[in-house]
Amino acid sequence: MYDLIILGGGPAGAAAAVYAARKQLKTAIILKEYGGQSTVSPTIYNWIGTTEISGADLATNLKKHILYYKGPFLEPLEGELAKDIKKDGKHFVVNTESGKSYTSRAVLVATGSSRRKLKAINADTFENKGITYCASCDGPLFIDQDVIVIGGGNAGFETSAQLLAYCKSVTLIHRSEKFRADEITVKKVQENPKFKAIKNADILRIDGDKFVNSITYKDKKSDKEYTIKTNGIFVEIGQIPNTSFVKDIVDLDNINKIIVDPMTQMSSIPGIWAAGDCTNGKYHQNNIAVGDAVKALEDAYIWLHKNK
Ligand SMILES: Cc1cc2nc3c(=O)[nH]c(=O)nc-3n(C[C@H](O)[C@H](O)[C@H](O)COP(=O)(O)OP(=O)(O)OC[C@H]3O[C@@H](n4cnc5c(N)ncnc54)[C@H](O)[C@@H]3O)c2cc1C
Repeated sequence: MYDLIILGGGPAGAAAAVYAARKQLKTAIILKEYGGQSTVSPTIYNWIGTTEISGADLATNLKKHILYYKGPFLEPLEGELAKDIKKDGKHFVVNTESGKSYTSRAVLVATGSSRRKLKAINADTFENKGITYCASCDGPLFIDQDVIVIGGGNAGFETSAQLLAYCKSVTLIHRSEKFRADEITVKKVQENPKFKAIKNADILRIDGDKFVNSITYKDKKSDKEYTIKTNGIFVEIGQIPNTSFVKDIVDLDNINKIIVDPMTQMSSIPGIWAAGDCTNGKYHQNNIAVGDAVKALEDAYIWLHKNK
């Protein structure tokens, strides 16, 4: 029986683990790997206390910080993914994909989010063969090439800005008339003569041989189909919270984020907290995930003492 089970080894999970161990709560952290989403980022410039750090180094530091507290108050359960959480009287049972069960008095969900995948013919076939979900990781493979970015939000425009530094041209394809990105970001990117945007487009198909060589879309206004030659397609169409495994126990919002009380990070079920990108917090960043988790831990600690 644990006091607390933490789910996820990203910034939120790591912060929660450190605080829980230091408060001497008997804690388990269930994690597939250390570091979370920004592990793939070549450089992070806003992790407070460092002027720049690679995602890989950030992950190593988070891992070191967790393992420093490994012992009677913190047990890392590595290579595990939570499958569901069930209530058992006053306690919670976390079942994992590998078939194990762990019981605790409280749970903190810090399972983050994943990239929304492109739905078009052959999009799965060409993933990592020209279709990529990480410009920072794969962009430099496309130096001096004509590339496509899919998505008209901030992520799409920021990816375009990054690629414009070294690609021959960047064509951004967006599904509707109005971009979702901030006007100032859109304006700056549109000033670059190597940039072009196509609006009101439905992506139909990706074609290629071993590697992508074209993308076909339909203009929603004219119903006409167009094919563009390219070897690189960067998809930036949003994030999906990793919350399907808690949908039967806590309240989720209309986009499946865990609804939390912003004062405490507690979910709709007393005894379950959530922090970071899996929550309905308005903004998501590494530093925010960490702060959310610390707030949750402070609250969980008091709650655990009151509910002995
Ligand atoms: C390419 C990229 C670059 C970024 N750059 C920056 C940046 O420069 N600055 C910044 O502040 N933010 C950046 N972000 C955003 C930042 O990474 C996130 O806000 C942050 O990682 C959220 O932390 P988290 O702990 O909530 O979730 P995550 O980092 O998503 O971690 C969640 C962890 O939970 C695990 N998990 C998922 N499901 C389960 C389950 N069922 N059971 C157990 N574990 C599970 C996942 O494998 C993952 O390891 C970037 C994101 C990306 C994708």
